[in-house]
Amino acid sequence: MTLLRPEPRNIWCVGRNYADHANELSNPIPHSPLLFLKAGSCAIHSNRLQLPSWSSIIHYECEIAVRLNAKVEVTHLGLALDLTARDAQSEAKKKGEPWTKAKSFVGACPLSSFIVWDNISHFSQLEFKFSLNGQCVQHGFTKDMIFNLETLLLTLKNHFPVTDGDILLTGTPSGVGQLNKHDQLTAEIPLTLQHHWLVE
Ligand code: ZN
Repeated sequence: MTLLRPEPRNIWCVGRNYADHANELSNPIPHSPLLFLKAGSCAIHSNRLQLPSWSSIIHYECEIAVRLNAKVEVTHLGLALDLTARDAQSEAKKKGEPWTKAKSFVGACPLSSFIVWDNISHFSQLEFKFSLNGQCVQHGFTKDMIFNLETLLLTLKNHFPVTDGDILLTGTPSGVGQLNKHDQLTAEIPLTLQHHWLVE
């Protein structure tokens, strides 16, 4: 199996794409995809994570990620952590300010290796899991996405300058929570991909 470590220019993300996660943070269900960006330079491939010192609440959000080409077609499949400074995000939401500080800090997007994958008709049948210190805390099924992959790709294509190698994060299911020093993390798409991280 050829494994790719993407160096994306852009990381396109969708918020509140699983109803159970929107509910756990008391957010309304969106009527159209809630898209935001993490800078491409947030992508990291190290298995060791360093959390920013200025936030006291860094949350993990495990998400299935796809790599895109310039025609906004899926070329690879992987896993990502949409790390979020929840304290900064809550403050930004209160003030109606952008989420950049909360979502696009140094090291905010740990990525697994990616596998070649263009089987998008099967995307809606994927299952993924995230474990914190050996305990499964997130268990998602892509069939539960509010906006499916085709809709997300079409939205990107219609609105945004997607470039070859960009990454799309497809949303997180419920079970998000705080990371702490020495946490051991595992994300997996069973029988397909698995990735481990250690919080330093
Ligand atoms: Zn997310």
